[in-house]
Amino acid sequence: MVMAQKKPLRERIREAGGLYLYINTRLIKYAGPASRGPYGPGKELPCGHCGRPKDEHTVGADGALLCPRTPEADA
Ligand SMILES: [Zn+2]
Repeated sequence: MVMAQKKPLRERIREAGGLYLYINTRLIKYAGPASRGPYGPGKELPCGHCGRPKDEHTVGADGALLCPRTPEADA
C-alpha cells in the first residue's frame, strides 16, 4: 500500500517557522548546535570596552553589544 502523500515542502517550511528556521533546524541536525566561535565554549574573549564577558552584555536595537552598567560608572 502506498503511504499517504507527504506534505508539500512549502507547507513544511511554513510550519517550521519560515525558510531561515527551516534551514537552520536542518543544519543543526547535521552540524550540531551553533558554534561558540574559534575559541570554543567558555573561552570567549571579554569585551574590548569593559573587559566583562560578552554574555553579561545586552544586545541593543541595532544589534551592537551594550556593556553592562557597573556600580563604579553609576557612582
Ligand atoms: Zn563591554
